Amino acid sequence: MRTWEQNIRRVVPYVPGEQPKDTSVIKLNTNENPYPPSPKVAAALRNLDAEQLRLYPDPAASELVDAIAETYGVVREQVFVGVGSDDVLAMAFLTCFQSERPILFPDITYSFYDVWADLFRIPYEVQPLDDAFLIRPEDYKKPNGGIIFPNPNAPTGLLMPLCQIEEIVHANPDVIVIVDEAYIDFGGVSALPLLKKYDNLLIAQTSSKSRSLAGLRIGFLFGNPKLIGYINDCKYSFNSYTMNRPAIALGAEAVRDQEYFRQCTQKIIKTREWAKLKLRELGFLCGDSASNFVFVSHPEHEAGELFAALKEAGIYVRHFRKPERICNYLRITIGTKEEMDALFAFLTQYMSGDRSN
Ligand SMILES: *Cc1c(COP(=O)(O)O)cnc(C)c1O
Repeated sequence: MRTWEQNIRRVVPYVPGEQPKDTSVIKLNTNENPYPPSPKVAAALRNLDAEQLRLYPDPAASELVDAIAETYGVVREQVFVGVGSDDVLAMAFLTCFQSERPILFPDITYSFYDVWADLFRIPYEVQPLDDAFLIRPEDYKKPNGGIIFPNPNAPTGLLMPLCQIEEIVHANPDVIVIVDEAYIDFGGVSALPLLKKYDNLLIAQTSSKSRSLAGLRIGFLFGNPKLIGYINDCKYSFNSYTMNRPAIALGAEAVRDQEYFRQCTQKIIKTREWAKLKLRELGFLCGDSASNFVFVSHPEHEAGELFAALKEAGIYVRHFRKPERICNYLRITIGTKEEMDALFAFLTQYMSGDRSN
C-alpha cells in the first residue's frame, strides 16, 4: 500500500441495479416507473429557458418546497429537499446519527443504509426480520443511536401498519426515527399524520418511483421545523446548490399534478395485484407487496438461474446474492401490462421445460 493510501477514506460502495445501454430490453430491475412523468412536466421542460442557467438556482428550492408543502398539507419549514432521497437520507444520517450508540435497521433492507453508516462512521446493529420477513417492533425498543427502516420495506415490499410505526417512534423519544417511504404511494399508509404528535420522526419520500422522475433526482424529507433546520444547516455547510433549476421547476410541476399521480399509481397497483395472481399460478411464492415491485421465489427453480435465463431473453430483474437469506429470491419491478405479459409468456414457456428460445 502506498503511504498516501493510509490517509484515504475507503468504503465499499453501494452497487445500483444495472442500467443497460440497450433500450430494447424489458427493464424490471430498478423499480423505475414504466409510465412517463406528468404531461405538465413535459410542457414545462419545453418552456425551460437555457439563458437562465447562467444563474445559480434558489438555494432553498422554494418553488419545489412550497409545492410539496401545499400538496402534503404541511408548512414549508417541515420540508427538506435534495438530489433524490439518497441525498436527503445521507444528509439525515450525517445530521441525526451523531450518537455513540448504534443505529438500528433491519438485516434485510435497502442496502444503502450500511454504506452510509460506514461512510459517516456511524455504528450500527442490524435487526433480523422474522420468518415471514416482517420487522418486529420489539427489536427497536433497546438503547440505540437512531432508527431507520423503509415502509414498505425493500426488497420485501411488505408494509408495516401505522400502529406499529407509532409504537417504534413512541418508544424512542430520545433519538430520531426515519421512515423511508420510497414506495408508500403504491397503496401504503403514510406516517405523515404522526408528525403532529412526535418531534423525533423524520419521513423520507421520493419523486423517483411514484412520480416517474428517477432521472431528475428529487427526494424530500418531512420533519419538525427545528429538525429540518438542523438538516438544512448541514446541507448549507456542504453544498448550498444541490437542486438545479430544471429539477426545481419540473419537480414542482410533478408534485402539483395530483390527478395524474393518482391515475399512474393506481394503474401500477392494479397491474401488481394481477401479477401476484399470475406468479402464484406459476408456482412462485409471492408475498403481499404494497410497493411497485414483487419479491418472489420458486420452489423448483433456483433464483440465480432464472435471473440469468430472463436476462438472456432480454428481461432484466434484480437478484441479490447477499444476504444469504434472500439469495433464492428475485425482485421484479411492476412494468406496464404489456411488459408483464412478456415476462409471463417467457416464464410459462421456461417452466413448461421448453428452453429452446
Ligand atoms: C429507490 C429508493 C430510494 C432512493 O430513491 P432516489 O431515487 O434516490 O430518490 C431510497 N430508499 C429506498 C428504500 C428506495 O428503494
